[in-house]
Amino acid sequence: MTDPRAEELATRLAETRRRLDAARAAAGRIDEVDLVVVTKFHPVADLVRLARLGVHDVGENRVQEAASKVSALAAADAELSAAIRWNMIGHIQSNKAAAVAGWADRVHSVDSIKVANGLQKGRARAADEREGVTPLPVLLQLSLDGDTSRGGVAPEGLPALADHVAGLDHLVLAGLMVIPPLEGEARAHFADAAEVAATLRRDHPHATEFSAGMSGDLEEAIAAGSTCVRVGTAILGPRPVV
Ligand SMILES: *Cc1c(COP(=O)(O)O)cnc(C)c1O
Repeated sequence: MTDPRAEELATRLAETRRRLDAARAAAGRIDEVDLVVVTKFHPVADLVRLARLGVHDVGENRVQEAASKVSALAAADAELSAAIRWNMIGHIQSNKAAAVAGWADRVHSVDSIKVANGLQKGRARAADEREGVTPLPVLLQLSLDGDTSRGGVAPEGLPALADHVAGLDHLVLAGLMVIPPLEGEARAHFADAAEVAATLRRDHPHATEFSAGMSGDLEEAIAAGSTCVRVGTAILGPRPVV
């Protein structure tokens, strides 16, 4: 039986992995770069296809959509669903944070103490309810242009937020995430963010991850030291309009 969509995803995934390898080689890097495949707006059937193609890391940016896909995939195929690492990459309202901590395996978009506290509370509750719940790795989302409506914490606010998160026993401070501002050059923004990431790592040696780069700018991000790119369109194609 042929599944043209599965073939299309396989081709685009391979092409993206080639881009990643070429970017690592161009930057003289021999360390790995995680690929998070961003499945927002795309159906659970695509998640199943991607999991069968060996994708482990998937990213979702809307709380409601993510939670319903987590349950749908678990119901559709428990084995595939167990192999998936769910990355929450989008804005979280503080009153939704506790629920996110129930299903997420990693959160890239922590930008306030309230969100961190909500995640801590939700993870503590999950650990009470089930066996095997481990502390939740979280990245702090940096805002470089002060336009926090797009999410993120300004550089001045980052150290205090990092110290706070480091003190929460159900969270693990894993690193920094950035979405470059629309204005200006991505390369320069990634370089600025990489400096902030280095400072964070100096103060918190386990916070080694730097989540940066999407379909259009992953080469620039990898050149600046990204350890994790979040790629949607280049693999899944344009997002369906809903
Ligand atoms: C949608 C999204 C991506 C992926 O963007 P593409 O341009 O489709 O690769 C990456 N990061 C975040 C936070 C997103 O919301």
